[in-house]
Amino acid sequence: MCLFAIGIDLGGTKTSVIVLGEDDTPVWSRRVATPQEGYDAILETVVALVEEARTHCLDKVPDSIGIGIPGELSSDLKTVKNANSTVLIGKPLGADLSQRLGCDVRIANDATCFAASEALDGAGKDGEIVFGVIIGTGVGGGIAIRGIPHTGINRLAGEWGHNPFPLLGAEPKQRPCYCGQTDCIETWLSGPALTQDYADLKGHKVPAIELVARAKKGNPIAEEVIDTYVTNLAKGLSTIVNTLDPDVIVLGGGVSNIEHIYSVLPERIASYVFNATDRPVELKTRIVRNKWGDDSGVRGAAWLTRT
Ligand SMILES: [Zn+2]
Repeated sequence: MCLFAIGIDLGGTKTSVIVLGEDDTPVWSRRVATPQEGYDAILETVVALVEEARTHCLDKVPDSIGIGIPGELSSDLKTVKNANSTVLIGKPLGADLSQRLGCDVRIANDATCFAASEALDGAGKDGEIVFGVIIGTGVGGGIAIRGIPHTGINRLAGEWGHNPFPLLGAEPKQRPCYCGQTDCIETWLSGPALTQDYADLKGHKVPAIELVARAKKGNPIAEEVIDTYVTNLAKGLSTIVNTLDPDVIVLGGGVSNIEHIYSVLPERIASYVFNATDRPVELKTRIVRNKWGDDSGVRGAAWLTRT
């Protein structure tokens, strides 16, 4: 008997839950604020959401749940590492939830869940290798191969946000990253990086969303900042094409709503990928905006229980 599927997307500010029916169509969903009082409060919230979700599963309550987190499991698969929700770091999240819920708990990085969701029936459908990118407060990435999340032996697959940004000499350098490194891709391509780009030119900060609005109205400085940003994004993503060579790159997160990205990014990535003899390169990788928006991560989390 095919069971329903329950997924949780545990974000830094919002936590979502979804119930997928036997045919994977959404049956019920809910989004609440992620408690900021610490780890125990987060556990309580997730347990309450799952218990409520189970009431929407008729007689087909699943014997596992999937959960996407803003971090990853350590290589022992027991504790959380690399979480920008730092209260999760070092915590045995899977065991704690499994004990409270009495079921199997499957955990993956939220960007990996995003990639799997978009690969299965979203903007990356029919792509054999899909690279999912989330650009917002930070820069995340995840890989799905034939719809299956690919996590890697170090549980680091897709974490391009903390590769060194491919500086080409013209940029002012030295942007420290919370991870302890300097000039990570995240420090050049996140939403706050866009704000910093503007501040470097004009001396004061403007939120990324306001910058986009100004560019739409034809403000030349905002247009210049965004155009330079797209070039930087192309530099970053060219390293993904050179290593993974995905069929599709799906963009998500707040910055993915910038329309200008989609008209010029493929050509600019093509100008940076490896090709010694045949320029301009015809880039076969499709660069697309996500289909499922804020629901992509939680859908992918539910699918962890199907694989
Ligand atoms: Zn970093």
